[in-house]
Amino acid sequence: MSAAAFAIGVDLGGTNLRAGAVDASGAVLCRRSVPVGADKSAASVVRLVAAEVRAIADELAGTPAAIGCGIPGIVDAAGGIVQASPHFPLWNEEPMRERISAALSLPVTIDNDANCHALGEARCGAGRWHRNVICLTLGTGIGGGLILDGELFRGDRGYAGEVGHIVVEPEGEPCGCGGRGCLEQYAASHGFSVFARRLPEAQRTALVAAAGAPEGELTPEIMARLADEGNAVAQELWEEWGRYLGVGIATLVNTLGVMTFVIGGGIVRSWDKFIGAARASALSHTYPRHASELVFLKAELGDDAGIVGAALLERSSSIMAGRRIP
Ligand SMILES: [Zn+2]
Repeated sequence: MSAAAFAIGVDLGGTNLRAGAVDASGAVLCRRSVPVGADKSAASVVRLVAAEVRAIADELAGTPAAIGCGIPGIVDAAGGIVQASPHFPLWNEEPMRERISAALSLPVTIDNDANCHALGEARCGAGRWHRNVICLTLGTGIGGGLILDGELFRGDRGYAGEVGHIVVEPEGEPCGCGGRGCLEQYAASHGFSVFARRLPEAQRTALVAAAGAPEGELTPEIMARLADEGNAVAQELWEEWGRYLGVGIATLVNTLGVMTFVIGGGIVRSWDKFIGAARASALSHTYPRHASELVFLKAELGDDAGIVGAALLERSSSIMAGRRIP
């Protein structure tokens, strides 16, 4: 491998497109970020991706050894097709791999964006010493990716890893997926509003007054501030938040036998407020012997995880061989 060898990873979001060049060690050599813009058509996004990839290749004066693209939505990685995407509602069974590849005249690999984040963290970030890793990105929803036996597990047609829709309350909160009681209604940013609604009225009124925000807008940032100020109700709601996360994690432990969880997203800034409760809750719903085995790790790569993972997608890419788990 020449010193200049690099792969390009693209992390497409609904608002921004991030892209970067990644070397054999998993280091990001350069990165770019541009707004996706109002035109969400596949043709427009393909042009944007191609332009960013070309700009990076020009900057490094080289041809990428591999190009990977993480896309939000249901992605059939093997077929190279985005079946549907919440951020790009016009897309329907869109053959994005072929379209991006045609625009660049280079081979391209695509996958779900959360899978790319997970792959990046598992191979080059917090999970790099572990063979089996589940990555959870906690935000407005929960992104998940499963790395089993060192490889990304996609399930049939890319349906695996939807950990945010693990049911933790069968008759619980309605979810955007059409179901009820999904984990991401509790252990994601909306959860505090759900918990506040269940409080006795006097406590709820005091919490909303201290927050200076309506019950439906109790963000993790506000709740972190209140907890730091010593607000006991806010501290308890962080623990409640952690307990739900633990229930979801217990399901994953019991189903897959994976003991290493990499947790990312802005909420990780409040790690100490919820992780103890999450661990206790997960252990209370799994076999006692797991107490010494269950590991929760903070994600390390931040916004770079999606770029690094996308760059790693092309499994045959020899430039990444050094990072493969034995
Ligand atoms: Zn759901």
